[in-house]
Amino acid sequence: MPKISEEVYHIPGQDEFIPDSHTYVLGKPSSQNLSLIDPGLTGKGGYKIESIQKEGLELSSIKRVIMTHTHLDHIGCFSEILKQLPWAELWVHRSEADLLEQGDERGVYGMDMFRGFCQGQFGLKPGAFKFQVNRKLQGGETLEFGDATWEVIHIPGHSIGSIGLYHRSMKILIPGDVVYADYAIGRYDLHGADAAGLKESLMRLAELEVDILLPGHNQIVKGLPKNYILKTAKQWESYLTGC
Ligand SMILES: [Zn+2]
Ligand SMILES: [Zn+2]
Repeated sequence: MPKISEEVYHIPGQDEFIPDSHTYVLGKPSSQNLSLIDPGLTGKGGYKIESIQKEGLELSSIKRVIMTHTHLDHIGCFSEILKQLPWAELWVHRSEADLLEQGDERGVYGMDMFRGFCQGQFGLKPGAFKFQVNRKLQGGETLEFGDATWEVIHIPGHSIGSIGLYHRSMKILIPGDVVYADYAIGRYDLHGADAAGLKESLMRLAELEVDILLPGHNQIVKGLPKNYILKTAKQWESYLTGC
């Protein structure tokens, strides 16, 4: 489990026929106040927990799970994680938190065809993703935990309640599935997605100084080129405004 800094750990996703999101653990271990970002795909909870333990982090110091968004490849193993960390709170942007609390799983599966496929593949029953959310985020919050400060930025478009987490002094951005390495962006055809909103969100992120990009999938980037997010947004602009 690579350590990005004193207060950021990266557990790479283990993709199968469906991608498994990367998981990040934020906070200095000595603080005993860690946050786990995006558990990952259904079935991957054991692997993620093992990786945390191998790093020598105490499970009891993980106080909460924060979702960048609630697609299956990010929240699929939340209940597996919760069995190991029954005390952990769940923090989600309010627009996706409401869906989870109502048991409306459209935001988890994204499309009907995918729902049928995944329920069959993983033996998931309807209602498997009905959860109470302990803290509903709206964007604009400054979260202080684990001896670090993270800003919450609402960046809808890939999903309605996507958030980014930004560590201003270390210039670290965790954008979920909004922007990836290699000038790639998240898809914008699933439930709650919005191409124009995604463009606006990219432009918002483009204003930040980012040195380390820790996306939900694929490569993580240290030493991000200047204006990388702006260039990415420009590259996709005609697709995002043309539909
Ligand atoms: Zn996603
Ligand atoms: Zn994803």
